[in-house]
Amino acid sequence: MPATLGAILYKNKGCGDDIPAPGCRGGAPANNNGGSGHTKGMREKVKFFGVWAGAVIALCAAVFTLACVRAFPIFGGENTAESARVAAEVTRGQSEGETRELAVVMYHNILKSSKGTYTVSPAQFESDLAAYEAAGYETVFPSEIVAFVCGEGDLPQKPLLLTFDDGRYNNMYYGLPLLEKYGAKAAFYPVGAFSAFSTDSGDHSNPNYSHLTWAQMGELAASGHVELGSHSYNMHRYEPRFGVRRMKGESKLDYRKALLADAGRMQDAVLRATGTLPLSYAFPFGAYSDEAYAVLRALGVKLFLTCSEHTTTLRRGDPTTLMRVGRFNRAGELSTAALLQKLAE
Ligand SMILES: [Zn+2]
Repeated sequence: MPATLGAILYKNKGCGDDIPAPGCRGGAPANNNGGSGHTKGMREKVKFFGVWAGAVIALCAAVFTLACVRAFPIFGGENTAESARVAAEVTRGQSEGETRELAVVMYHNILKSSKGTYTVSPAQFESDLAAYEAAGYETVFPSEIVAFVCGEGDLPQKPLLLTFDDGRYNNMYYGLPLLEKYGAKAAFYPVGAFSAFSTDSGDHSNPNYSHLTWAQMGELAASGHVELGSHSYNMHRYEPRFGVRRMKGESKLDYRKALLADAGRMQDAVLRATGTLPLSYAFPFGAYSDEAYAVLRALGVKLFLTCSEHTTTLRRGDPTTLMRVGRFNRAGELSTAALLQKLAE
């Protein structure tokens, strides 16, 4: 398992998200020839060296500042929209311009006992999986989607991403055996604070109310059927801010620092639990902002999920197509046929 979040981020650079090696350790090279002459006094030598060294340090500081602003725009105070910045970045990859229409379905609970806007039964989930297969859809992981857009991998002709929000234990209890049965893939989006509570309280593994523990996330990742993303560490709340949005009166700098701390904590926690840094982020309540993109991209996130109901056209070489990926909510009141109808529209 890679040692640190920083090491992973550096290793994972690429696809419109180049992160140069942090820091500027160059400094002034040792040079003892600083304008010396036998006739010059020691004072003059020191003065000359001081001016020379000062110039080198100033140059180094300027390079360092530029590098940091480029690498971490969250500290650069830029005013342009994040999407414009991404669009301007260098794109690469074979078959640039090749597209896929991506359908994404958003699940929450799988429960036997109730059905609702955010709950389906195990039988409904199984019926969905069978119908996806019959309709020619092939389930994919977020990492495969990112690889396609970055020109580093391929996707089937009818890619389908199944997402489960909030990290409910019932997704594992009822969902994983069905994913295994159908050879399907899904992405789970736990909330760090919920999982920390289940882990720390020792009250876990109840499909009716528990959230996934960190250890269970490790098991899911090891199953080969689930990839873990982020749904924030503790911003799945209506107050004091709505999801990851900026609070009224909060400075831009304070806002970015708060987001960086929260999202970074979750990136780190999932990395420790699964050995893999999350590449995708499901915005709590679908709420997003330009600043949030800048912060999350600096933390290695490349695919962003909203709650808008539409399919998304992925384009090779264009990472902007990963920024507002739509999802269809799989409500329990909906029939499998009606869900498939929505995906096809
Ligand atoms: Zn949620």
